[in-house]
Amino acid sequence: MKKLTCLKCNINANRVVYPTYEYEEGVPLKDVEAFECPNCGEFTFTEEQVDEMERRTDAIKIHTFSFLRRVTVSGRSLCINIPEDLARHLKVAKGQAIRIRALDDRRFLVEKQIR
Ligand SMILES: [Zn+2]
Repeated sequence: MKKLTCLKCNINANRVVYPTYEYEEGVPLKDVEAFECPNCGEFTFTEEQVDEMERRTDAIKIHTFSFLRRVTVSGRSLCINIPEDLARHLKVAKGQAIRIRALDDRRFLVEKQIR
């Protein structure tokens, strides 16, 4: 098995598996292999591990799509338009109840209410 050395501590790093890791922001991967230094905790990836993360990230991105929209104003509310393709894909029409939930100070989730 391949060995990696921590460049700071000059000792062998252990092979570890992280439950989740975002190689690309917003595209979380599960069970990601890395090498972690038992002394300083610094982690690094082999070339093969990076290739694997790239491959898995690309596979996820093919199945998701995103749109860039600008916030507009309607009366006293701020609005974001839902692109036609997305509305069709999610089967959202006028009158659909939508729940908006803040995830952190930068993101929110927009979810169709089923009932
Ligand atoms: Zn170290």
